[in-house]
Amino acid sequence: MIRLSLTSIISLIVLFSFGQVKTDKDSSSINAPFIKVTLLGTGTPQPIMERFGPSILVQAGSENLLFDAGRGCLQRLRQINISYDKITALFLTHLHSDHIVGLPDLWLTGWLVSGRTIPLNVYGPMGTNNMVENLQKAYVYDIHIRIEDDHAPADGYKLLVQEIQEGEIYNKNGVRVIAIEVDHFPVKPAFGYRIEYKGHSVVLSGDTRFSKNLIKYAAGTDLLIHEVVISPDSVIQSDPNYHIVAHHTTPEQAARVFNEVKPKLAAYSHIANPYRRNEQVLLKLTKESYSGPLILGEDLMSFSIRDTVSVSNWKTDRK
Ligand SMILES: [Zn+2]
Ligand SMILES: [Zn+2]
Repeated sequence: MIRLSLTSIISLIVLFSFGQVKTDKDSSSINAPFIKVTLLGTGTPQPIMERFGPSILVQAGSENLLFDAGRGCLQRLRQINISYDKITALFLTHLHSDHIVGLPDLWLTGWLVSGRTIPLNVYGPMGTNNMVENLQKAYVYDIHIRIEDDHAPADGYKLLVQEIQEGEIYNKNGVRVIAIEVDHFPVKPAFGYRIEYKGHSVVLSGDTRFSKNLIKYAAGTDLLIHEVVISPDSVIQSDPNYHIVAHHTTPEQAARVFNEVKPKLAAYSHIANPYRRNEQVLLKLTKESYSGPLILGEDLMSFSIRDTVSVSNWKTDRK
């Protein structure tokens, strides 16, 4: 009951901040005449049911672009009726396992159940090629038997990797994807992404500490989806979770990012909560120094970017 009422409160805030909330019952549509962003998983390595591993679907025109393949991304795609054969490309922010552990399931089960006939293009940092080559070796038995016994389409399992650097890495059917180098030290390189379509855009921070480069590339964006870590009021270096806080962005730092970028809407995803604090504290701490529109992301929450940004909550829309 508490959860429901919180969701209602969020909906009211959205209604107030961004105009009329549209209920997007069209999640299953493949062609989006605007940018539609769906948070498939908003979590971290923690194996919790409420927040699956990090993965975000961005739909624009005929493109269905997937960013990261965290735990459960295939199930989340099924929940919104997007099958694997409709994914046009996969982009990885970095190779921490929480961002790629869903890849074997997405790729192999997705191929099997969707009957995908063409390879999937995968864009990622240096090391992606090596990771994918070794995954293909690890699953070679299954790949052979699915083709021979299940008659799975022979090209549908293939992953075509392109290792990327900062800048425009994708430009198809009116959709541009720009890779942004962010600061997830010691993971280097790690990328965020800016996706543009018909004069609108969304920026995904990926995993990062406070990043000036992200601010630069996020200028003028409609929607900024940013990672965050909920830390205690003070954290000392001997704390076993110190490195988690040090590798991510605190709400106070995120507020600085939002104040500089001034997106139409900012949303938190990849919510690291090593101290298991009440998540609502995130909004409170951010709003102490940022007064713009802000929302706490949930799995399957979606955003439609037209001249305004509207938010839809999958769970409440289906009641
Ligand atoms: Zn992560
Ligand atoms: Zn990471």
